[in-house]
Amino acid sequence: MRLSKLFTKTLHSAPADEQALNAQLLIRAGYIYKEMAGVYAYLPLGLKVQENIKRIVREEMNAIGGQELIMTNLQRSDLWQITDRWDEAKVDVWFKTKLQNGSELGLAWSHEEPITDMMRNYISSYRDLPINVYQFQTKLRNEVRAKSGIMRGREFVMKDLYSYSLDEKQHQAFYDSVIEAYLRIFERIGIGDKTFLTYASGGAFTKFSHEFQTLTPAGEDVIYLNREKRLAINQEVYNDEVIKHLKLNRADMEQLKASEVGNIFSFGTVKSEQLDLSYTSKSGDKQYVVIGSYGIGITRLIGVITELFADQKGLVWPEAIAPYKVHLIRIGHSDELTKKADKLYKLLTDSKIEVIYDDRDLRVGEMLKDADLLGIPHRVVVSDKGLANNTLEWKKRTDSEAKIINEAELVSILES
Ligand code: ATP
Ligand code: MG
Repeated sequence: MRLSKLFTKTLHSAPADEQALNAQLLIRAGYIYKEMAGVYAYLPLGLKVQENIKRIVREEMNAIGGQELIMTNLQRSDLWQITDRWDEAKVDVWFKTKLQNGSELGLAWSHEEPITDMMRNYISSYRDLPINVYQFQTKLRNEVRAKSGIMRGREFVMKDLYSYSLDEKQHQAFYDSVIEAYLRIFERIGIGDKTFLTYASGGAFTKFSHEFQTLTPAGEDVIYLNREKRLAINQEVYNDEVIKHLKLNRADMEQLKASEVGNIFSFGTVKSEQLDLSYTSKSGDKQYVVIGSYGIGITRLIGVITELFADQKGLVWPEAIAPYKVHLIRIGHSDELTKKADKLYKLLTDSKIEVIYDDRDLRVGEMLKDADLLGIPHRVVVSDKGLANNTLEWKKRTDSEAKIINEAELVSILES
C-alpha cells in the first residue's frame, strides 16, 4: 500500500472530547473514526488490525471444533421475556426498537437466548450433540459510561462461542479446551505474559465464571493476582472463602488494575430448561442440554494493546496483528532513488511481506514522525546516502537507533 493512496491521513490532534489514550492515538493515526461517544468506525488500518486478531481467534476456535456462523442483530422480545432478561431493570444496556406495527424488537447486546432457541430446531437426539458454534458480531450496548475509548464501546465487536453438550462431563472437557485456546490466543497476539485466568462471579456448577484479565492501568476492573501461580480473583468475589477454595494465600495476592478481555460461563441446564432445549438420550428419556458461553472482546483487545505498548511517539503493534509488517520510507526525489525504492517495495510485496510505502514528497521529519505514530514493527529508510554502496537503514519500532544493512540482510531479517 502506498501511503499517498491510503485512506486516511494522520492528524495532529484527537477530538477534544476524547479522554482515553487508546482512542486518541488510534484516531490520530487514522485507524478509527469517532462517530460519537462510545461509537467508532474502523478505517482501513484499524480494520486490518481487527481482521488479524479475528484470524488468530478463528484458527484457535476452529482447532477446538468450533464452527463459524452469524446470528442476527434484530432480536425477538419473547425469548428474552421467557428468561426474564427483557426488562430494563434486569438488563440495563438494552437498545430497543419497534416494527411499523408497533411490536418491540431488541438490538443484540448478547445472543444466548436467540441462539439457544434456534438450537431447538436442530437438536432432538443425543446424536445431534455436541454442537459448538461461534461468531464475530457487532454487539450494541447502551453503556452508561463510555469514557474508555474503544475499550468500552456502545457498539463493539465480540467473538462469542456457544457450546451445547450432552452432559456435564462433555461440557467440562470443552470448557477446559476453551481455556487452553484462549491462553494460546492471548499469547499469539502478544499479551500472554500480561493476561491472567481470573475467577469471577457467575457460572452454574462452581458458582464461578472465568475471566481473562490483562493488566493495564487503563482497565476498569480490579483483580487480586498470584503471579507465581498465574491465577487471579476478581475484586467482586474476593473473600476468604474463595482464596481458600483456590488454595491461595491472601499475603501472596497483589491488587492490580486490569481489563477483562474474555469471559467464559457455564450455564448448566438453566437456560435450556427455561427455553426448553432438550434431547432424547440413548435410553429414551428427556434430558436438558448443558450450555456454555464464551466471549472475547475483539475491539476491546485493540484498545488494550494500544494502551499497553504505545509510547510517547505513538502506536506500537505486536507483529502478529500489525496492519503492515514494514514501513518503507523514501527520502529523496531522484529518479534513481525512486526506482530503487519502488523495486524494493515490489520485491518485498512479491515475497508476501505486507509493506506500507511512504512515497509522499514530505519533509523527512514528518515522514519519520508518521512512521512512529502508525507503529508498524519494521521501519526501512532508503535515501541518496545509501545509493552508492547499496545500503538502507532498518530499525524496529521499539529500537532507538537504526542499523545500516543491505537488501539481502533485510530480506533475511523480515523472513525470519
Ligand atoms: P464488562 O464487565 O466489561 O462490562 P461484560 O462482563 O458485560 O463486560 P461480557 O458480556 O462477558 O462482558 O462480554 C464478553 C466480552 O466482551 C468481555 O469480556 C469484554 O472483553 C467484551 N466487552 C463487553 N462489553 C464491552 C464493551 N462495552 N465494549 C467493548 N468490549 C466489551
Ligand atoms: Mg464479563
